[in-house]
Amino acid sequence: MAEFEMLTIQGLGVSFDGFKAVDDLNFIVDRNELRVVIGPNGAGKTTLLDLICGKTKSTSGSIMFKTMDLTQMKEHDIVRAGVGRKFQTPSIYENLSVSENLEVSFPRGRSAFGALFFKRAADVIDRVHKVAEEVMLLEKLDHQAALLSHGQKQWLEIGMLLMQDPELLMLDEPVAGMTVNEREQTAELLNRISKNRSVIVIEHDMEFVRKIAHKVTVLHQGKVIAEGSMDKVTADPRVIEVYLGH
Ligand code: ADP
Ligand code: MG
Repeated sequence: MAEFEMLTIQGLGVSFDGFKAVDDLNFIVDRNELRVVIGPNGAGKTTLLDLICGKTKSTSGSIMFKTMDLTQMKEHDIVRAGVGRKFQTPSIYENLSVSENLEVSFPRGRSAFGALFFKRAADVIDRVHKVAEEVMLLEKLDHQAALLSHGQKQWLEIGMLLMQDPELLMLDEPVAGMTVNEREQTAELLNRISKNRSVIVIEHDMEFVRKIAHKVTVLHQGKVIAEGSMDKVTADPRVIEVYLGH
């Protein structure tokens, strides 16, 4: 198979009523890389994820996911192509069990009838168990999702995304509102799941960022102002001025 980056963004821009939320942005994420994007409020971080997942249409530039230009694709086709995105607020089915939440997230497409049904049922059960173990909810499979802690709900939603086995997973502030202990476990979880997929995380908690980031990209006013190792980026005077110093 040909070698290529997982995600190559060039000259990306979007304007809202003349205001450039993302401005001539270049951004490359490798295979099996865990990239953290930081920056002050309003820097364009969430908008960047909105552009990648097709929720917002760009006004300029390209977003190549492997060999596909995502700017030309609809949101559901982008999901099907292998891009998963978690929003800031969890969107799980509170009335369903953990297991059912994972089951409904299993990709459809094959016939649910006849002989295939049983094969698929076994597939689904197998996958539900694997994912539940990965997101530390194996013991909670039969519990109603509403009864989970805030952190466990966040993990369940990550699990729902993992059911689709995305090659690129994007998480917007995943540890906001979590306890110290849940943050630590989430760091381990993200380190595990980035072993065989690319992950982009937006996060403010710098202690957490240090635990997970391979590289850090700093956004400010819709542009990349610094990029590289955690040490390099946190020592950058411009980054301290616009973000870390506050
Ligand atoms: P961040 O996630 O870095 O805090 P956002 O990407 O949410 O920042 O927002 C970047 C800027 O773009 C903000 O000034 C925000 O108000 C503006 N913005 C984001 N989405 C929209 C939209 N759909 N319509 C108008 N303005 C928007
Ligand atoms: Mg945001």
